[in-house]
Amino acid sequence: MNRAYTTAQVAIVGAGLNGAAAAFFLAERGIRNVVVIDRDYPGAGASSRGMGLLRTFHANEPEAVLALKSLDVFTHWKERVGGSAGFRRTGFLWLDSADRRGALQTHVDMLRQIGSNSRIIDGAEIAERQPHLAAENTIAVYEPDCGTAYGAKANESLLVNAMARGVRLLTRTPALGLIAAGGRAVGVITPQGEIHADAIVLAAGAWCAPLARSIGIELPVQARRLTIGRVILPADVKHPMTFLDGRFDTSFRPEDGGTALISMRDDRYGQTIDPDQRKEDVDPAAVARGIAKIRQRIPAAERFVGINTWTGVDGFTPDFKGIYGQHHECRNLYLMAGGNEKGFKVSPAVGMGTAEWIATGQSRDIGKPEFSSARFADGAEVSGAAIGVDELI
Ligand SMILES: Cc1cc2nc3c(=O)[nH]c(=O)nc-3n(C[C@H](O)[C@H](O)[C@H](O)COP(=O)(O)OP(=O)(O)OC[C@H]3O[C@@H](n4cnc5c(N)ncnc54)[C@H](O)[C@@H]3O)c2cc1C
Repeated sequence: MNRAYTTAQVAIVGAGLNGAAAAFFLAERGIRNVVVIDRDYPGAGASSRGMGLLRTFHANEPEAVLALKSLDVFTHWKERVGGSAGFRRTGFLWLDSADRRGALQTHVDMLRQIGSNSRIIDGAEIAERQPHLAAENTIAVYEPDCGTAYGAKANESLLVNAMARGVRLLTRTPALGLIAAGGRAVGVITPQGEIHADAIVLAAGAWCAPLARSIGIELPVQARRLTIGRVILPADVKHPMTFLDGRFDTSFRPEDGGTALISMRDDRYGQTIDPDQRKEDVDPAAVARGIAKIRQRIPAAERFVGINTWTGVDGFTPDFKGIYGQHHECRNLYLMAGGNEKGFKVSPAVGMGTAEWIATGQSRDIGKPEFSSARFADGAEVSGAAIGVDELI
């Protein structure tokens, strides 16, 4: 190993939401000799490009626990972190076909057991609460405490408050590779020299896999292209809630001031790409198609006016769950990988869990088999092809 140009207790690669959350919660625990590096700037990856939907509704308990703990941080951001993440308690609906009541009830029973304020409402109550929604043959999981926040704001707020506690942030500093010795991760190579640290956190979003490969670790994280757009709402769409629509495969996030974000799923949505080749080239027809899709749920969408669209990339795993915690073989390497287009809503709890694991050697919330890198060890790879809607959510 060459001489270090700087040393730290913890080196974090990636200053997106995950890296920022780990830095903040490490500093909160008193671990302040932490350096965060980003090849660009905070939020340059997925974190400033997301839709910002916050829900606790999941079909599996481990992710629901992370979402619920994170919702508590979003709700009390000023006291827990400082500043603002732009949280709005709009209420959240998971809209679905009425014939899926049995499956949804199972999920809601699980959610209520862990303390989530979720319940199923029928089409009549949906129509009463949200008259602009078409609700025939529809039921919804209703989460009144959920809503939206802004990834870019949360990202910056976490870093500003981490830095106020002593964390160092190096922007425009790419990790060229990791350094391992004796089965442990011990450093990061940068153009300025090596950073040596007792623990390395890999939080490079869609760019995690090549960095892991630099020390011989295969992480099944693929970069996928995602698209969304902003529209102006007609004045008669009043107090809209945030929703995900399992039946029409679309989503809606109201903003302050009469605009909303909606799915713009052009033909390349979800395609695997080289994250360095991402272009802001949303197919113009996707705006019309996105509005046409959402018109099935909001008839007034025929009067939506499209403003702009953008693309982002996130890291995806074969089973659509994050890879968190200490790598099962490489000690001192901590993973925050695989946002799967839902990583914002859990990032505070994943940051807390990572900090806890580094500080104490374990974390109950992220130290679960569902998040372990070991689940992809030889012969154990989960096939994405077999995933149904209840595994996705
Ligand atoms: C269009 C879109 C919509 C989404 N909607 C939602 C939603 O509604 N709700 C939700 O919960 N989630 C949503 N997500 C997902 C969420 O935004 C991501 O899961 C989350 O932001 C991932 O955070 P991250 O910190 O892991 O990665 P990123 O934000 O991608 O950060 C990774 C950082 O690593 C840096 N980096 C990369 N390579 C290197 C290197 N070699 N050296 C140094 N730094 C490096 C990058 O510059 C980047 O800043 C959405 C994502 C997108 C793209």
